[in-house]
Amino acid sequence: MGNGRVLPVLAVEDQHLLVNENGSIIQVQNNIQRQVTPGDYVNVENTLGQDKAVGVAREDDPSGQHARVEKVTDDYILVQTNSRSRILANPAEDVSPGDGVLLTELGEFYKVFEDGIVELDDTTLDPLREVNETDSSDLTPKNVPDKEYADFGGMDDVVEEVKYKVEVPLKEPERFEDVGMSAPKGVLFYGPPGTGKTYLAKIVANQVEDASFYSIRGPELSHELVGGTARKLRGLFENAQKNPPAIIFFDEIDSMAPRRDKTRDAGRRTVGQLLSLMDGIEERGRVVVIGTTNLIGAIDPALRRPGRFGREIEFPRPSREGRREILNIHKPDVEFADTVSLENLVEKSSGWTGAHIESLFEEIGEILLKGERDREGSPTIRRMDVERAYERVQAQINNKEAQRRREQEAEEGAD
Ligand code: ADP
Repeated sequence: MGNGRVLPVLAVEDQHLLVNENGSIIQVQNNIQRQVTPGDYVNVENTLGQDKAVGVAREDDPSGQHARVEKVTDDYILVQTNSRSRILANPAEDVSPGDGVLLTELGEFYKVFEDGIVELDDTTLDPLREVNETDSSDLTPKNVPDKEYADFGGMDDVVEEVKYKVEVPLKEPERFEDVGMSAPKGVLFYGPPGTGKTYLAKIVANQVEDASFYSIRGPELSHELVGGTARKLRGLFENAQKNPPAIIFFDEIDSMAPRRDKTRDAGRRTVGQLLSLMDGIEERGRVVVIGTTNLIGAIDPALRRPGRFGREIEFPRPSREGRREILNIHKPDVEFADTVSLENLVEKSSGWTGAHIESLFEEIGEILLKGERDREGSPTIRRMDVERAYERVQAQINNKEAQRRREQEAEEGAD
């Protein structure tokens, strides 16, 4: 003994583990009697020149103890567990007094785990403390536009699914129990950008009386300082649970909850916290968490289990009939010249999303506004205007696509 290292597991093979040691992947013999999963940390020892994993140091779902941070100095933190206080090295993370932390089986610091606070049964601790400190507009419900399902074009089956998986759990969660099921707590909306994921989530919120809508963007959250993310998340869930019916909406959730085998500590911690917050929502709590992503495979699988984001709804690009409906929804109430054929647009916009169609009319509006001075009488949309707007949107799509290809190639080159 004496030469042990604690290293994170990247992959589990038959007799071996691939672990990360200072940035290099090394293969070690697996002498651990129990199941090990990627994300766990293992004790690796070197005997007779061979690296062997001999035990789990920290698990992905650690079985270590909860503790509360009492004091923080530059070098140390003082934590209080149920039975005693301990002094640990300062983990070089954003830890403040009052935070609940999780220790490893070996009694080392593992991560901040706020829910631990409650389990310590400390009545002096006000769970709202941090929320009040976080003066963030994300914690207050957002206004939702006054739109209805009829304003969402062309995806009847998507709308049906959303009604069943989001609206009913918000309005009448007991209906699920009647048929022996549990009401969904989390639903993933996935599909290309601009297919109406955010829009439909807001429409649902608008269909449920007094519903509040809390929204947060994954990329914003992942740029927060570590402690800030934790506080924000907890604040969101607390507020939503106090104000049901509520939707908590995570846009681009993949950036805050990436697969734990592909991310560093801060991301892993956010996923862990999100999981425990979702587990804390009551069955009939009338709180539904919606996450959106373009990259369903980039989401941590632990989030996609039943009881979490167990339901998934795909938002495809609209079909021809869908595009026709969306065109009619967004078409402004002005006159079109006889030569303008919307049917032609339906054909030509194959592959477009609802957002592209909406921006077509924005472009047309801009063209009209700019040309207004030269025209007489009330504005009429001419075929030329539509064609110019069409070309602009199509050029934007082509540019984006070219950029995406370049990025993909760069990524493949880097692998
Ligand atoms: P996503 O969240 O999938 O990226 P958004 O919900 O932000 O897309 O969509 C952007 C805009 O595109 C919406 O505000 C809406 O006006 C329009 N849109 C998208 N899909 C539809 C649709 N099926 N019907 C009507 N409008 C749509």
